[in-house]
Amino acid sequence: MDIFETDKKYVAGTYARFPVEIVRGKGSLCYDGAGKEYVDMGAGIAVNIFGFCDEEWIAAVEKQLHAFQHTSNLYYQAPCARLAEELCKRTGMKKVFFSNSGAEANECAIKAARLYAAENKGEEYYNVITLKGSFHGRTLTTLAATGQEVFHKYFQPLTPGFLYAQPNNAESVKKLIDGHKVAAVMLEPVLGEGGVIPLEQSFVKEVFEYASENGVLIIVDEVQTGNGRTGALYGYMNFGVLPDIVTTAKGLGGGLPIGATMLGEKVKNVFSAGMHGSTFGGNPVAAAGALSVINRLNDKFLSEVREKSAYIKTRLDNMKGVKGVTGTGLILGVETDMPAGDAVLKCIEGGALFLTAKNKIRLLPALNISYELIDRALSVLEKVLEG
Ligand SMILES: *Cc1c(COP(=O)(O)O)cnc(C)c1O
Repeated sequence: MDIFETDKKYVAGTYARFPVEIVRGKGSLCYDGAGKEYVDMGAGIAVNIFGFCDEEWIAAVEKQLHAFQHTSNLYYQAPCARLAEELCKRTGMKKVFFSNSGAEANECAIKAARLYAAENKGEEYYNVITLKGSFHGRTLTTLAATGQEVFHKYFQPLTPGFLYAQPNNAESVKKLIDGHKVAAVMLEPVLGEGGVIPLEQSFVKEVFEYASENGVLIIVDEVQTGNGRTGALYGYMNFGVLPDIVTTAKGLGGGLPIGATMLGEKVKNVFSAGMHGSTFGGNPVAAAGALSVINRLNDKFLSEVREKSAYIKTRLDNMKGVKGVTGTGLILGVETDMPAGDAVLKCIEGGALFLTAKNKIRLLPALNISYELIDRALSVLEKVLEG
């Protein structure tokens, strides 16, 4: 049986895969079984932020693999401690809990917020406000946090205690804070899966202010927008605000699974021993890779991300068949005359891998993608949209 058939027969059918088998990759190029070359504009959904098989990342991971691959959290180990230190120094957060995915990072954030509220306001202050169209993960609690009914169907009852506000409508958030006992508001700086919808400065500012006045914590979900993706180290930094809790995953590991829940001043000591945990969380190999990733996301690199973003936006704005472009940095959504799914399938034939988000084509390329490969991928898209 070929891989398509074996996969269809034995792997649970949770994914509508594109008809491509990737056998190897280098940078922003990858190859299928027949040797066909593709420009990768999705980076494994914002994970491979330095592309495939980046030498510096491999060296960091490999070095750790030869020292020890796992210890359990019963012992101290340097990669985990050093990564936490670096994340705190770069963000203003105070402590970090490590897990293995975005959903787990968000689970921990919700637990931290409820715990803080229980200790400071009362256990009945358990509600968390999220946005309609948001995406926060697939576990039953993060599914409840996800403000999209399509994902909720069939899986009731979900974890109770979630309320949904309209994105970029501060009044709708304030109304929920006024009307309920609320622990936290949880926001993505750019709604990624929800269709690449950026939050507006005035909305973010008003929500942060109102939450702070009312003793409500702010959790920022940077699973997709974090680690340089928006042209800032974390997306919230574009707004000049400081959240109480920041979650991230995807790009942090550069290709290995890791999740991080960063706890700010108010919540840095909510957890005591035994209140939360993860067997694999803070895995030294993943952490060593993540540390090398974070150390490379300096000001110069981030300004290059912003320049690439401006370049791509200009090219897309002038492209026939493009109705509009949204997003910040290298998380971009493109609304086209052609249905996004059809366009992405045709681009695969042309040798470029794009993603979709709702009705848009979504671009999440490696942050170090070259201008040459950007041009190549955009030319494929242009040809497809011209029909
Ligand atoms: C992908 C994503 C998640 C879930 O991450 P997993 O690693 O798949 O659990 C959560 N929040 C946002 C914003 C995401 O983009």
